[in-house]
Amino acid sequence: MVHKIALVGIGKIAIDQHIPAITNNPNLELSATVSRNASVDGVDSYATLDEMLEARPDIKVVSLAIPPQPRFDYAVKALKAGRHLMLEKPPGQSLAECYALEKLAIEKNVTLFATWHSRYAVSIPATKEWLSSRTIKRFQITWKEDVRRWHPGQEWVWSPGGLGVFDPGINALSIMTEILPFAVHLNAATLEFPSNRDTPIAAKLSFTNADRANVEAVFDWRQEGPQTWDIDVETDQGDLKISSGGAKMSIDGNVRIDGSDHEYANLYTQMDGLLQAHKSDFDLSPMIHVCDAFALGKRTTVAPFHF
Ligand code: NAP
Repeated sequence: MVHKIALVGIGKIAIDQHIPAITNNPNLELSATVSRNASVDGVDSYATLDEMLEARPDIKVVSLAIPPQPRFDYAVKALKAGRHLMLEKPPGQSLAECYALEKLAIEKNVTLFATWHSRYAVSIPATKEWLSSRTIKRFQITWKEDVRRWHPGQEWVWSPGGLGVFDPGINALSIMTEILPFAVHLNAATLEFPSNRDTPIAAKLSFTNADRANVEAVFDWRQEGPQTWDIDVETDQGDLKISSGGAKMSIDGNVRIDGSDHEYANLYTQMDGLLQAHKSDFDLSPMIHVCDAFALGKRTTVAPFHF
């Protein structure tokens, strides 16, 4: 069965990833877009979600590729209209919003998918398997990138709810929560806020658990030159390294996986599977860590940020 999808928000990630991923999936059809500014050749276009929901009862699936701040209102409209729903990460701008969406999806008996695209990077399943039978001594996340390069002119990342450096950092936490064979919780954090912004430009996080796990993360948006999306894990049986956000994996310095990016193709395959099975996938663990960092983090003020 081919599922008709309406894609909402024709911005950077929709154009780079969602449209090709939907178009290349034989079980899915991009049947409409909802955009205040853009359209896609050959696809029905609506200026508002209300108009699309009213005009196209045949479209049963809505995918939201908009920033987190407006997402809840759009999600509620789609769910109340009985549509299956796929959410870009993060699934909301607060945990309470996310729980409200989960409850509404259950009431409406529709599929809800909180996507974490980084979990679908090529090395993640093998890394998870390798770590599952080892004792982890140290787990270090280093996620350092240039915000001017990846978020040019995007004011929403600097506004409350936009998460600042946690917008990419939550991707690392989505990998961490997928591959770590045990649960951890945040016990300390420092957050650096530019003096003219409402969200952090850098953060350091420490996690622990009842067995004193040694898990740390460093996020920084001021990295120029080479970009770093690495996780280094020391174990009792060798050292594992994930780099390029999960595209590469090496063990004791020997490259084991070096693949290409199919994260969004895999996300839409997962959505298709959830629709077929009439299930939801709504893991909030990466979001819980980010919310804890905002609750527990010691705040410092750093130089103002200008694009
Ligand atoms: P973006 O280009 O700044 O915005 C996406 C689109 O959302 C805009 O083009 C606009 O669509 C719509 N939009 C923006 N503000 C809105 C508002 N206040 N109300 C309603 N619609 C609004 O952002 P993006 O980079 O694509 O990111 C969108 C989401 O994808 C974020 O949650 C982000 O974390 C996630 N994501 C982004 C990337 C990336 O590389 N950029 C990667 C992975 C995940 P219209 O003009 O069509 O209405």
